[in-house]
Amino acid sequence: LTLPLTEKAIIGRIRRQAEAPSGRGVVRTGIGDDAAILECAAGFEVLLTTDFSLEGVHFRREWHPPDSVGHRCLVRGLSDIAAMGGEPTAAFLSLALPADLPQRWVDRFMSGLLRLARQFNVQLAGGDTAESPAGVLADIVVVGRVPAGRALLRAGARAGDSIYVTGELGRSAWTLSLLRERGPAALGAKTKSRYTAHAPHFYPQPRIAVGRWLRERGLATAAIDVSDGLSTDLGHVCEESGVGALVYEAAIPRPSGLPTSSLHYALHGGEDYELLFTAPGSRPVPSMIAGVRVTRVGEIIRGRDMWLVDSHGQRKALPARGWEHFGGR
Ligand SMILES: [Mg+2]
Repeated sequence: LTLPLTEKAIIGRIRRQAEAPSGRGVVRTGIGDDAAILECAAGFEVLLTTDFSLEGVHFRREWHPPDSVGHRCLVRGLSDIAAMGGEPTAAFLSLALPADLPQRWVDRFMSGLLRLARQFNVQLAGGDTAESPAGVLADIVVVGRVPAGRALLRAGARAGDSIYVTGELGRSAWTLSLLRERGPAALGAKTKSRYTAHAPHFYPQPRIAVGRWLRERGLATAAIDVSDGLSTDLGHVCEESGVGALVYEAAIPRPSGLPTSSLHYALHGGEDYELLFTAPGSRPVPSMIAGVRVTRVGEIIRGRDMWLVDSHGQRKALPARGWEHFGGR
């Protein structure tokens, strides 16, 4: 099946794919009316986050299978909800598609997105479609909720707090570097296992349960998801909290089997979708939360500067190096 399907046909198709599992959840009226109606429970606040996924910037059709593009599109929003300690409830998707895009690509994109949505009981409640003059453009809005006044914020870290990260850092950017240097062949034979072997890049998991655990325990003083890289995202926490940070190079959890140069990816690579949080130095933090490893990587200090401390105790400035995306700049 190739485009152009009419807009009406695409929406009908997406609507059938997105049918809610037996009326659970907050969506009272979803796709098919002028606006969605969502229930809001008393005592909760609404979380809203929006993220672009642009072909050539966030993915490439020749590198990423369509279901991975759909998965990654939604995970960007889910991860932001996780970083707030919230529970995702609904999503809205606006899609602009080139006229020559095969309908099969769209179907597989939707199946990747909706599989992840079902995993977290998130209902696709609306969106828009249009023809794109060039490339696939997807804009995802994720709605979530959190008990009033209890969301985890970037502001709140204080001198003396410890800095923690979940999981491992740098794996996604390392996969991207392989793609950039040698193309998809660098990942192995052209089978599905190529992508599952590199799941942290193609199918990252949002840390919803960890964020919720931290919020319920009141343990974290600040939190953020590591979407743009440790240096950049820790930089956001420091800026919003008005503090500085020390990061212990040897403590950063890096995947085994990666070259020594992977420190660069762990510090500055994006799209790991792990959580970074701070907690008072006096409070014990378990080494596993909700089945995910948690590692202490540094501490919050007074001032505004970030420092990387090597194994000899030498400090050097840790610049917040922004995520480079896929533009090949
Ligand atoms: Mg974020």
